[in-house]
Amino acid sequence: MKRIVVLGSTGSIGTQTLEVVREQEGLKVVGLAAGSNVSLMEKQIREFMPSFAVMWSEEAAKELKLKIADLDVKVLSGMEGLVEIASMEAYDVLVTAIVGMIGIRPTIAAIKAGKDIALANKETLVTAGHIIMPLAAEKGVSILPVDSEHSAIFQSMNGDAKERISRIWLTASGGPFRGKKTEEIRDMRVEDALKHPNWSMGRKITIDSATMVNKGLEVMEAKWLFDVSFDQIQVVVHPQSIVHSMVEYVDGAVIAQLGVPDMKLPIQYALFYPDRRPMEQEKLDFFKHSNLTFEKPDTETFEGLALAYEAGRTGGSMPTVYNAANEKAVSLFLNREIGFLDIPRMIKAAMGNHKLISNPDLEQILQTENETYDFIERMVSKEK
Ligand code: NDP
Repeated sequence: MKRIVVLGSTGSIGTQTLEVVREQEGLKVVGLAAGSNVSLMEKQIREFMPSFAVMWSEEAAKELKLKIADLDVKVLSGMEGLVEIASMEAYDVLVTAIVGMIGIRPTIAAIKAGKDIALANKETLVTAGHIIMPLAAEKGVSILPVDSEHSAIFQSMNGDAKERISRIWLTASGGPFRGKKTEEIRDMRVEDALKHPNWSMGRKITIDSATMVNKGLEVMEAKWLFDVSFDQIQVVVHPQSIVHSMVEYVDGAVIAQLGVPDMKLPIQYALFYPDRRPMEQEKLDFFKHSNLTFEKPDTETFEGLALAYEAGRTGGSMPTVYNAANEKAVSLFLNREIGFLDIPRMIKAAMGNHKLISNPDLEQILQTENETYDFIERMVSKEK
């Protein structure tokens, strides 16, 4: 029996992880964590009976405690709770399906405790990859990608030596605004940006897909997961989202992983790796997909992608600035306080304003995050 802890259990990846637990034998949920969704958390606790549950806010934790007073479940709150649950002895794999940089500390705590990580929370590797990957190697723990593209790369590499890889082709759907030019997307509203053509995901990542910042974050995530240079990572727009990514080898062979867009496959693969389990889902029918297409990304219109390469190549604290500026700008956009194109504009401004720290420790990363949030807030209030 593999015992798992799911951080972000009430979200898109979290609920799909629990579907995998429901459908497959051999998984036991021992811990769950979420932000504020007490009612769904209560349902999940009653169904999966974990030993621990964490709510981010103390208020939500209090409310949860009252609701499940009849059960023997320890309820914790805040960062302390997340770190405690991630460091506990009695489990095997941490599923990081939390959104944002909040995932860094619990991920580090879990690695220190020797737990394998099924990683969905890409912001963690983007900002602290230089801390997390060496620590994981030192502790002998596996970081198993949950992101569909990174799972595809992982599957296509299948343990092959890094030296034999010449390039990674990271596929992107192009999001809802693919093919449009700057003037056409300037006035896009929240509702337009939330309409992803192929994937149903959380709100933040859906906006990130529309700006192509998500692909930028994935480029940085791939760099850390697969230890390749930025020159070796090529984004290719593939609107059908059937080819989930590809690996090109030194002899020119390209190996790809294909499938219908369904996050349960990469989640399941990460949880049972190296095993493959049968899965009840629509299978890929090539007769229905006679037209798989590939395009160069438009980095002029979708500047967020170009800025990601710039932040990644600069390294140090710059990816944190990129990520934090984006997190702040996306939440302002979702609150209808700024426009769609203000998102990359603000990321660019924050990067331009930042004084680089070449090898930031955890405190410096979190400080950079806060300073970037403040910078964006000041920028917005000045422009009001
Ligand atoms: P959602 O917004 O759907 O879910 C986020 C989850 O995190 C919720 O359970 C939420 O709880 C919880 N959460 C938010 N803030 C806190 C906090 N401070 N403390 C504890 N829990 C918190 O996000 P997604 O599932 O879409 O994405 C999660 C991560 O996975 C992101 O990093 C994303 O980039 C990545 N990812 C997502 C994919 C997808 O298909 N959705 C694909 C690949 C990667 P509550 O509900 O209570 O707010």
